[in-house]
Amino acid sequence: MKIPVSGLSTRSAISSRIFSVDAAQAAACVLFVALLAGCAAEGPRERGPVSPDDPLGVVTTTSMIADLVRIVGGDLVRVDGLMGPGVDPHLYQASQGDVSRMAGADVVFYNGLHLEGKMVEIFEQMHERGQHVFAVTDAISEEERLQSELFTGNYDPHIWFDLTLWQKAARYAGDRLAEVDAPNGDAYRSRAAAFADSLGSLDREIRLELDRIPDELRVLITSHDAFGYFGRAYGFDVRGLQGISTATEAGTADVQDLAAFVAERRIPAMFIESSISPRGIEAVREAVRARGFDVEIGGTLYGDALGPEGSGADTFVGMVRANTATIAHGLGGAVEPTAPSE
Ligand SMILES: [Zn+2]
Repeated sequence: MKIPVSGLSTRSAISSRIFSVDAAQAAACVLFVALLAGCAAEGPRERGPVSPDDPLGVVTTTSMIADLVRIVGGDLVRVDGLMGPGVDPHLYQASQGDVSRMAGADVVFYNGLHLEGKMVEIFEQMHERGQHVFAVTDAISEEERLQSELFTGNYDPHIWFDLTLWQKAARYAGDRLAEVDAPNGDAYRSRAAAFADSLGSLDREIRLELDRIPDELRVLITSHDAFGYFGRAYGFDVRGLQGISTATEAGTADVQDLAAFVAERRIPAMFIESSISPRGIEAVREAVRARGFDVEIGGTLYGDALGPEGSGADTFVGMVRANTATIAHGLGGAVEPTAPSE
């Protein structure tokens, strides 16, 4: 936890914002410890056999993980997702109600690698009291993880945009559910295998679409670095205005650096993200114009959350297809993007 900077400084506005966030976080931590300690007396509840009439209660953090567990668990799970459409997991603060929901769940799945940066201590506490708490990024080996350029030893948490990694997350979720509910183990494992197969088909499908983008335009510019794994998997140079977490805001130098890059490479489009304010990317666009080049806003990509119900991007598969169409259209592929949903 950061020590708040006291007194006035030229950065007093920033300092006071940091202070207020951290003070709230400190208060929240105390609350969670107290809440979970209260629950610890009884420990995780013993439950009877799992069936469609009495499914496993699973709490998930991001909407991508909720989708994954719904598919892998089928009618043997009842999934309660904490983060809805447009919610930024990097900044998400668990409420008292969220903690109660997690403490009362049979199983909790989260992303890990600090994606849910303000909930790390809660997961640790739940783990310590013997709850079934799993990070889907545990499915990904260190060799397969992308290092953060900014923080040595930290990894990029946005694994879902490499579909071969999300296949591993699917199998991992199936294996963990099978451990928790051994009598139904085969059901979880076979659903996980089927979903992994369909992700393999989707991977081939989007590669064909993305192949239409000329090599020199395979540069993906977004609000924050959510697409590093996407870039590695599908051959794009990826530049985010903010780093791999949205917790640090981009400064003027970041905007100018990115604008210089866009103008020099004559990149036709940049993209905003559904869970992040478009202001930063719009500032880059203005700075590019000042350099005598015009760059389009190519549309909205779903970065750290699925789309709202009915958007077509409200499932993981739909989200991947929507992003692919938006990117291919914006950067010179021939595919029409799906209708904007917000
Ligand atoms: Zn992110």
